[in-house]
Amino acid sequence: MPRIHLLATGGTIASRRGPGGLASVTPAADLLAAAGPLDGLTVTSSDLRTVGSFALTTADLRELVTEVRRCLAEDVDGVVVTHGTDTMEESAFLADLVHDDPRPVVVTGAQRPFDSPAPDGPRNLADALRVAAAPVARDAGVLLCFDGLAFAARGVRKVETLRSGAFAAPGRGPVLRVDGEAVTALARPVRGPALPLDLKAELPRVDVVPLYLGADDALLRAAVTAGAAGVVLEAFGAGNATPAVAAAAAGLVAGGTPVLVCSRVPSGPVAPLYTGGGGADLARDGAVLAGDLSAWQARLLLAAALAVAPHDPLAVVRDHLSTGNPTPHRLDGEQG
Ligand code: ASP
Repeated sequence: MPRIHLLATGGTIASRRGPGGLASVTPAADLLAAAGPLDGLTVTSSDLRTVGSFALTTADLRELVTEVRRCLAEDVDGVVVTHGTDTMEESAFLADLVHDDPRPVVVTGAQRPFDSPAPDGPRNLADALRVAAAPVARDAGVLLCFDGLAFAARGVRKVETLRSGAFAAPGRGPVLRVDGEAVTALARPVRGPALPLDLKAELPRVDVVPLYLGADDALLRAAVTAGAAGVVLEAFGAGNATPAVAAAAAGLVAGGTPVLVCSRVPSGPVAPLYTGGGGADLARDGAVLAGDLSAWQARLLLAAALAVAPHDPLAVVRDHLSTGNPTPHRLDGEQG
């Protein structure tokens, strides 16, 4: 019988209403009990923390990934992590960047609290446990399971603040569907090579600088003053910036600080199209266009790349972008 370990970290799935607002207080054993009977599975559980994911730090994230590895070192077939939805796509992505094990790690959570009259957490957890035990999830890396679908870590985003279908992978779609005990493959995620990241060492600081109409270079300069070793621009459209930000980014690259370019648009890749502050100028001046990665996943990729290859982080970034960016092979016509 497949043996799965549940590692709980908090989030709405564990939250109850209190005088000050929702608080993540429910332990893993109670989450598991609420998920109902899980015939054919043996599930063990433990609590790493009970916290809203908006309060997590990158140090917490390294600790989480370390703990996932410790769980995998036990005799288990997969690990499920319950986590707040706000930063779930970041935790899943960093865990996936270093995951070099065929056994799945499946992250899940909820949009409605544990004490809601109609909670979505119990079903999401039951689905995630089924996915973690499913042979089709082997070699798929870290997955995010929510509302009956599982997504590859790379490219998944929270797209709804309150509704139960909280996640999507724009332009990519889900990789698995869960209907009760049936887990069906829709597409196979293609992933970059696992990075040999030392999880004991602090990640270098990388900041995300958003573009908005008329943006000057003040935030970019502030990031560097705060100690950023790299910067991700959350640029307009297909990867364009204001002339002021583009000029400041060129200065950073010339001074040895890597700059990645993502888009504030939820779907589609960035491209070197426009001059006058656009993506063509950014690419010409040495910024790296980061495909369809979200700015916050790109931030973790750049931080990990700076940690594993301080003298040539962009080689790691480019390698990851080229091997992890093919069109997924779809097994049916489903789109997420
Ligand atoms: N809305 C969040 C959740 O679903 C809060 C958090 O990220 O912890 O859990």
